[in-house]
Amino acid sequence: MAQASISLNYQGIKERVRLASEKSQRKTENLHILAVSKRHSADAIRRAHACGLVHFGENYVSEALEKQRELADLPLCWHFIGPVQSNKTRAIAEHFDWVHSVDRLKVAKRLSNQRPQHLPPLNICLQVNISGEDSKSGVHPEELGELATAVAQLPRLTLRGLMAIPAPSDNFDAQRKPFAALRELFEQLKPQMPHFDTLSMGMSGDLEAAVYEGASIVRIGTALFGPR
Ligand SMILES: *Cc1c(COP(=O)(O)O)cnc(C)c1O
Repeated sequence: MAQASISLNYQGIKERVRLASEKSQRKTENLHILAVSKRHSADAIRRAHACGLVHFGENYVSEALEKQRELADLPLCWHFIGPVQSNKTRAIAEHFDWVHSVDRLKVAKRLSNQRPQHLPPLNICLQVNISGEDSKSGVHPEELGELATAVAQLPRLTLRGLMAIPAPSDNFDAQRKPFAALRELFEQLKPQMPHFDTLSMGMSGDLEAAVYEGASIVRIGTALFGPR
């Protein structure tokens, strides 16, 4: 996609965020747009960076590392948002700034152990299975407190907050429900979590609902880069 189209799309997304925050009276000065660049080229990322985007989300490790090598000249912040396989934790710990999709202690321990000493602690969001679907990844809400307490103690991780991918819906009120539930879990945990400041929720189709419920990172792919 041409730079002018990405730029126009980015303006459109910012406008959607602005309108939703105005209507919901949520403050958005700390809201980040994470550009989800999976299956888009390094050149597309370069053009998005030229439009002012800095945070990029990737789902597949080897695809991401290839693009990172091509883009090493740019000061980008890389977020891993896909399912984390145990045999990929070292590459993730070495090459990303954030991981949004941690849902078990085994993976968190490996990321902490494998985070290189010369880098700051790895920023972590715990992925919660908020819609209660068996097939989806994410920790069950009942088991979240125990996992959060354990992850918060790992020395090379900073536990920043929660992430969810609810079942898709095109009804605004239905979209808000799981985001509201995630925010409640976040607020329950926050008093015990010194670095908790991040609610990673909302994608191209439901970003307004996420803003209404207090998202701090919306993860936008299609609305920015076009269809994959
Ligand atoms: C692909 C993906 C997105 C972006 O989805 P769009 O609907 O294209 O905006 C966001 N979050 C995660 C975890 C994804 O895998």
